[in-house]
Amino acid sequence: MDYSEVAAKYAELEAISGRNELTRILADLLKSAPSAELAPLVYMTQGKLRPDYEGVELGLAEKLALRALATASGISQDRVYSVYVKHGDIGTAAEELLKNRSQGTLFSEGLTLNRVYETLLRIARQSGSGSVEAKLRELASLLNDATPLEAKYIMRTVTGELRLGVADYTVLDAAATAFLGGKESRPGVERAYNVHPDLGFVVSSAASKGTAGVEEVKLEVGVPIRPMLAERLNSPQAIIEKMGGKAVAAEYKLDGERLQIHRNGDDVKLFSRRLEVITSHYPDAADLVREHVSARKAILEAEVVAINEDTGEYLPFQELMHRRRKHGIQQAMEDYPVALNFFDILLAGGSDLTAKPYAFRRKRLQQAVEQTPRTRAVPSISSSDPAELEKFMEDAITDGCEGLVVKDPGSPYRAGAREFAWIKLKREYRSELTDTLDLVVIGAFHGKGRRAGAFGTYLLGTYDGKRDVFTSVAKVGTGFSDENLAKFPRLLEPYESHVRPPGVESNMVPDVWFRPHLVIEIIAAELTLSPIHTAAMGRIRPGAGVSLRFPKFTGKVRDDKRPEDATTVEEIVGMYQRQVKRVE
Ligand code: ATP
Repeated sequence: MDYSEVAAKYAELEAISGRNELTRILADLLKSAPSAELAPLVYMTQGKLRPDYEGVELGLAEKLALRALATASGISQDRVYSVYVKHGDIGTAAEELLKNRSQGTLFSEGLTLNRVYETLLRIARQSGSGSVEAKLRELASLLNDATPLEAKYIMRTVTGELRLGVADYTVLDAAATAFLGGKESRPGVERAYNVHPDLGFVVSSAASKGTAGVEEVKLEVGVPIRPMLAERLNSPQAIIEKMGGKAVAAEYKLDGERLQIHRNGDDVKLFSRRLEVITSHYPDAADLVREHVSARKAILEAEVVAINEDTGEYLPFQELMHRRRKHGIQQAMEDYPVALNFFDILLAGGSDLTAKPYAFRRKRLQQAVEQTPRTRAVPSISSSDPAELEKFMEDAITDGCEGLVVKDPGSPYRAGAREFAWIKLKREYRSELTDTLDLVVIGAFHGKGRRAGAFGTYLLGTYDGKRDVFTSVAKVGTGFSDENLAKFPRLLEPYESHVRPPGVESNMVPDVWFRPHLVIEIIAAELTLSPIHTAAMGRIRPGAGVSLRFPKFTGKVRDDKRPEDATTVEEIVGMYQRQVKRVE
């Protein structure tokens, strides 16, 4: 497939914003691709190269991409930079600069989708000494053979700025339209995606074998499933009512890190909440699974928690962060030992258990997990009495937990869904805002006084999944330790942008913009309406967005969340409505 065809469709996609139109054009594009190129096409259309869980990151620094552009166009770096600043978009700058390049290159070879894809994959995988120069050469050579329009999209792709507004769900709709006869088939495609979250794979299955191909997609050891998520309510009473008044299963909500554990004999792989492989952070947890889980082939979920080895006490989440390192893990395992609290079993001995009710899975879990000082099925009770839940909640908090997760005993495991089959109840819910929020850093303001020379305040956004954009919701300047103040600029530097990044909507203009990447946890006094912030704009009142009163950083960096996993606009609207109800 020629890359020029792809670029022409991208231009069409970019020009429209209606979801139906977007789906139709994308469906046409998918139909026109030969089957072997379908998966790469799907990844690239979302600005990616592989499914998220493989962790292949493209995001080339802006500076390097501009250098490659200068090399390919034969135009000085200064001029390249000024054209970039003029347009505020690296793609448009490339398009303009290459339009004016000398004749000779016009006779170069046409680009194929495969060549662009393979080159970008090589660029992403280069690391170590000499890799910067190698990346530069690869990119310059691609740009050299690109038409101006192709260069526009290649530049946006390598810098992580290709945002065509094509969210995961739009791809699923397009696949249903292109290969399964219409959008009505979307639930089947969505199910396949939830148990095997690789859009390239799911779309290819639909294309090659139609509905049967999609139905064949099954839970597989080694491929992470999208996690089931919890809704929130404020009281045991409300939760029991919501679940129909019957006995519910209440479990401790531990304050650690979620692990999705895939075991095949002695081979144990650990995935994080965002489905990245994190086995290397917890080799001891993998050993605990080998030693104390009886099922040899299984997928389990557990919360890994830091413990005080002498007292057996649970320690706060921050302690676990010492385990997120590349080197010295042996020492970190000794200094920060962990325990596993298992809370679900999705596959055992080759049988998929996700369709079975919670009560069944819980029994199976208890059989599979040996109770030791380091491993157990998470403490749980069954009750329909609010007072009993209240008491269990107190116990949980005394034992160092955040609260409870209450589960509907009749519910199957609903991959990828945030529904009322699981409801969390936290201590904070009683006071302040109903919950903490996980927000994306989209900008920063220079500090004054003690913070001069550093960033003093950060601009934060929420995710609007329907439109695949990030909208501003608050500025936060409190709650940062000196260590964090020093660390954040380093963490954010690769995502710095001199212009408002595509996919970010904000009326407030910070000193520096960041492409959405870093997610941090924020607590606030309440949600308020704001004429400035764009989150949930017009949803509660015309002309007003939603913002936070007295936002404060809790100290938790949520690197277990992708920016798309941050608190969504829908959740914020829900929180706002619940808050209004409480006040009334
Ligand atoms: P939060 O910020 O509250 O952890 P989240 O967005 O990460 O929320 P939710 O699904 O809303 O995820 O809350 C459930 C999270 O709580 C799980 O991701 C898991 O890490 C943790 N957890 C702790 N104990 C349990 C439990 N017994 N059952 C399910 N999840 C649990």
